[in-house]
Amino acid sequence: MGATRREFLQWSAAGLAGLALVPGERAVAEVVSEAGAARASSGNPARVIVLISDGMSQGVPSLAENFSKLMRGKGTYFAEMLRREDVARGLFETYSLNSLVTDSAAAATALGSGTRVRNGAINMLPDGTTLRPILPLLKERGIGTGLVTTATVTHATPAGFAAQVERRGDEHLIAPQYLDVVDVVLGGGSRFFDSKDRRDGRDVPAEYAATGYRVARTTAELNKSTDSAKVLGLFSEGHMPYTIDHLADEQMRRDVPTLAEMTRASLEVLDRNPDGFLLQVEGARVDHAAHANDAAGMLWDQLAFDDAIGVALEYAAKRPGTLIVVTSDHGNSNPGLNGMTTEDSGFYGASPAHFERLAASKCSVEHLERVLRGKEGFSAEDLRDVLRESFGVEIGGAEAEIARAAWRREPTPILATQHQSFVGALGQILGNHTGIGWCGTTHTEDLVLIAALGPGQETFGRLLRNTDFFRFCTKKFECPFENPSMTLEQMARYASRRVEPAEMVPHWT
Ligand SMILES: [Zn+2]
Repeated sequence: MGATRREFLQWSAAGLAGLALVPGERAVAEVVSEAGAARASSGNPARVIVLISDGMSQGVPSLAENFSKLMRGKGTYFAEMLRREDVARGLFETYSLNSLVTDSAAAATALGSGTRVRNGAINMLPDGTTLRPILPLLKERGIGTGLVTTATVTHATPAGFAAQVERRGDEHLIAPQYLDVVDVVLGGGSRFFDSKDRRDGRDVPAEYAATGYRVARTTAELNKSTDSAKVLGLFSEGHMPYTIDHLADEQMRRDVPTLAEMTRASLEVLDRNPDGFLLQVEGARVDHAAHANDAAGMLWDQLAFDDAIGVALEYAAKRPGTLIVVTSDHGNSNPGLNGMTTEDSGFYGASPAHFERLAASKCSVEHLERVLRGKEGFSAEDLRDVLRESFGVEIGGAEAEIARAAWRREPTPILATQHQSFVGALGQILGNHTGIGWCGTTHTEDLVLIAALGPGQETFGRLLRNTDFFRFCTKKFECPFENPSMTLEQMARYASRRVEPAEMVPHWT
């Protein structure tokens, strides 16, 4: 068998050093309780922190709760929020203009501008009409604005709150659009900013610095205390590392901030604005891991997201009148723990032991793919060895052959086309050992959870459209504005834009 329980607990203890620093060592329930006690019926100035776990299907919070107890001996802030009477709980429906299943660009546009657009577009209707997102509207009124993410900062979810592009993949066009619109910009994606990586040779960070932004590239630079009111932090070329890979790499732990650290740094800056702020915090890689059917990778990133919730709650306890909204933009692959039964386990009695195998995972599926690319023409035995070493899972010979065929893009006996890929096939195979099943490898139509605590929370205590979030913000910040919208009939007049081959590059790599 793979890693023993002691081995994985030792490994997780090493990981704890990176995560347990936030928010202090206090009990989860205490932190939520203090934030609840500090809640005022109105907040003036308004401070809103919206935390989005991208692609967080409804099964994720309970898996994360169990995973947190397994790995860290404590529950999650999100579950504690859902448990409490004084926290509003609701749901968003997430449709886009052209589909029941949204992508993050259309979802973030709905949240950020109150209008549904076609998948792939950011704040642009099919006829080219641009929409005004919430952050520029607030900035005009002197209200603080912030975007924090573990993806590239120019990725769809942050961009939906502040930028306008026809194609979400044009991140080099988004990079200059936050300038003097967003006060705090923290995440990955330096390759869309730096002159050496941009085709036009523009030195975008220098342009930010010229207007007073502090530019940070490491945790130490982020934490340097200054009285600067604007910060641009770029901590990786592309997306920031998966939490599970971050924890396993000493240099990354030192130089690359966690989502919680970025959240704390952004609140320190935004707190200085006497007119309040809107801060969007995205746990982006929950979505990416779900696309890869990577259960442990997804859960570690959900825990990193949960730590950011903790930082927001501690802030709210200190600053009464702060509203915290925790939600997602859409479901993804809908993971869940199946009832597993073995001969000696009793009915479904094997589920806990299957789930505990996730604790032995030492890297993301993304990292595993890099390892396998380095083993050109690997055998089924090689694959079994790598999975034993990396995930602590002992797959069978027939399973290894299926995964190997999927790697070589050969047809496999897996029936669902959703799973006809290496990660799709591997996800099904690992599910035999961890109990985690997936409905596919793409976004889903599910309603997503909302938990809200603070002034105005009652708005979120029901089923809402994702577009309602924008209207809530314009009301709360007293900046009346309505964007144009389009009906399905109107949309039909505009031909669907062909998806260019370059855009087929998955957004999670
Ligand atoms: Zn996605």
